[in-house]
Amino acid sequence: MTKAFLQCIEDGCHRKHTLDRKDYRCDACGGMLEIGYDAPRVAPQALRQTWQSRKSTSAIEDQSGVWRFRELLPFVPEGSNVVTLGEGHTPLLDVDRAGQWAGGVRLAIKHQGNNPTGSFKDLGMTACITEAAILGSRVTVCASTGNTSASMSAYAVRAGMKAVVTVPAGKISAAKLAQALEFGAVVIEIGETFDDSFRLLRALTAELNLYLVNSLNPFRLEGQKTIVCEILEQRDWRVPEYIVVPGGNLGNVSAIGKGLRELKELGLIEKLPRLVVTQAEGANPFYRMVANNSAELIPVAEPRTEASAIRIGNPVNWKKAIRAIRATEGMVESVSDDEIFAAKAALAHDGVGCEPASATTIAGIRKLVASGKIPRGADIVAVLTGHQLKDPEISLRRRGEADLARQRLRVEPDVNKLRAALERVLASA
Ligand SMILES: *Cc1c(COP(=O)(O)O)cnc(C)c1O
Repeated sequence: MTKAFLQCIEDGCHRKHTLDRKDYRCDACGGMLEIGYDAPRVAPQALRQTWQSRKSTSAIEDQSGVWRFRELLPFVPEGSNVVTLGEGHTPLLDVDRAGQWAGGVRLAIKHQGNNPTGSFKDLGMTACITEAAILGSRVTVCASTGNTSASMSAYAVRAGMKAVVTVPAGKISAAKLAQALEFGAVVIEIGETFDDSFRLLRALTAELNLYLVNSLNPFRLEGQKTIVCEILEQRDWRVPEYIVVPGGNLGNVSAIGKGLRELKELGLIEKLPRLVVTQAEGANPFYRMVANNSAELIPVAEPRTEASAIRIGNPVNWKKAIRAIRATEGMVESVSDDEIFAAKAALAHDGVGCEPASATTIAGIRKLVASGKIPRGADIVAVLTGHQLKDPEISLRRRGEADLARQRLRVEPDVNKLRAALERVLASA
């Protein structure tokens, strides 16, 4: 079995720690930790074949789009069960109309909304709840803008653990709240923002011995990094020019960056795509940091955007994220809420729905093409992070009045009135 450990990410430190520490801070310098491995040298061709062959077995670990790539997650001791809901194996779809709308690029979307609880969070959750089970944890906690709470609640109850989530009061979508409650979690509404609720919870996790699953937990990122294996497999290992992902707490971009780095080290790919992070204008501290070339992230005190999944002012993973951007010559873009909803509407013409945060990717690509930073014709994969049904209230509210007048009709229960209405529709078809 490959040896896994926690390791400080700070240059000049890189101290190793055992896997069972729960504060995820380096003893020596206080830096963030990530999972490191003494990876065995496996021939890339053999790995690809192993992964491919698992697709034809019926074992749930082989069907999971995380555990099918388990050679990349060797922290699970031989013989331990994994806690899985068959996450991953989501579609990669060409979206030609959205590609045109964005300025004439070759665009595909990787739809992570097609996961058991409807967001990419499930990829990370299967890994970190598996680790929580290995450590014998009884209570898992997180602060959340909604999707982490839905995902954690599902995996925790499956593993027989109690789930407690803190969310900003009155600020998460009803759909996400309903998911967490249905899975039996205790939901504590506290503070005005995600950042408040996270800060308060974090102050107590060590004292009360709670297992914290926010993306500060490096096991989350291990699960999330496997998305790059799927994307590349689905493209017959042709590396795209760009991978675009929304940024909230910046765990996902960090995970994707780590996944790409490891695939390159293992010889599975030869070059890296450029990573692009898109943020909402009212919650864009990472964009500002990169645009201003600053060495430190300055939090946004009152993050604002209707894309609630990325309404985060003080992203915990920025140090990992900046490494991923630098290592891939990446970029960061910022988009307004109007641009987000216009992008969401454009995607809908390809029959693809997503939650608002996910549509920042398409809006960001359009801006980067318009400003010449991404060339026309570029080969791009955008990661859609959440499902269309996650935020129905806002999507309905954002549908323009003209569209609604045309699309949402009320007709008296009379066959002649219905005929007249249908004839008007047919005339415009
Ligand atoms: C969590 C989430 C994000 C942000 O991901 P980070 O890893 O926090 O940057 C984006 N979109 C959706 C739908 C999410 O649930």
